[in-house]
Order: sequence, then C-alpha cells, then structure tokens
Amino acid sequence: MSGLSDVVRTAKSILTGHGITLKEFFREPVTVRYPQEKIEYPRGVRGIPSQKVNPETGDLNCTACGLCARACPVGVITVEAMVGPDGKKMQYPAKYELDYTRCLVCNLCVEACPFDALEMSDMTELSSFSSEDLVFDRDRLAEIWKRSHAARIAGGEKI
Ligand code: SF4
Ligand code: SF4
Repeated sequence: MSGLSDVVRTAKSILTGHGITLKEFFREPVTVRYPQEKIEYPRGVRGIPSQKVNPETGDLNCTACGLCARACPVGVITVEAMVGPDGKKMQYPAKYELDYTRCLVCNLCVEACPFDALEMSDMTELSSFSSEDLVFDRDRLAEIWKRSHAARIAGGEKI
C-alpha cells in the first residue's frame, strides 16, 4: 500500500515539475540582451556620486572640508584642499578623487556634505577594462553632474 502511494506521489511531483517547466517555456523572458538591449531605469536610480557645479561661477560648491571622506564607509574618497600663496589651506579642493571600483552607491557622502556639493548621479554605465579609469577626479565628477539627472532619494529636481 505504501508502495502505491509512493508511486502516486512521485508521479504527481513529476507532473507538477513538468507543468511548471512548460508554463515558464511559453512565458515572455524577463531578461534582456544587455548591452544591445537596455531597460529604462526608474527615476531616482543611483549611479556614481557627482560634484555639483555653481551655474553662475562654474566653480564647485565643495569646500574641501573632508566630511564626505570621513562618512564614506569604505574610504574611497580622497580630498586635499588648495593651498593659497600665504601657505594656508583654501576652501576649495585641489584634489578630489573617488574610487568607484569600491563605491557602494550608498549616498552617505551626499548626506554628510554640509555644503550641498555632492549629488548621486544617474550614471550607472561606467564599466572599464582598467580600474584606473574608474578613479574619478574632481573635474570628471563635475562633468558627470552636468550630464546626469538628479538622483536624490527624495526624487527632487536637479538644482
Ligand atoms: S556613495 Fe557611499 S561608498 Fe560611494 S563614495 Fe559615497 S559614501 Fe562612499
Ligand atoms: S563634497 Fe562636501 S563634504 Fe565633501 S569635501 Fe566637499 S564640501 Fe566637504
């Protein structure tokens, strides 16, 4: 008796498995042949953090305070302030580098910035054969900001 119930249970499970396979076989695939095919990302998708540019002066809002670098959980931001002719540090970055190879796209640097100088861009397609290409300096981050749409968590407009 137990042998018969085993046969019935096995047959049922085989039929169920094949039923699922058949159903999935005829379903429209959810995958796309990237990069030939691309899906439209939702508004607010996060790419690399970018440096905002003042539209009137063309300067960065960044004051080289370094708070973003301290807030970054993986330590991928390097900031060095410009030094004036008097030898004192100025409130402008001589060097601002972001190593995107290890960036978590977490937005913590943006939240930490007290000068509204950073914004998550919507640039997600930045792959390269060279990891050095993925270390973005101040000027490249500013260019990215100019070309990207705002990707703030709140979904605000680009300012
Ligand atoms: S998004 Fe996160 S991981 Fe990337 S630089 Fe900013 S704080 Fe660091
Ligand atoms: S981006 Fe913001 S937090 Fe980072 S150094 Fe510049 S002003 Fe400071």
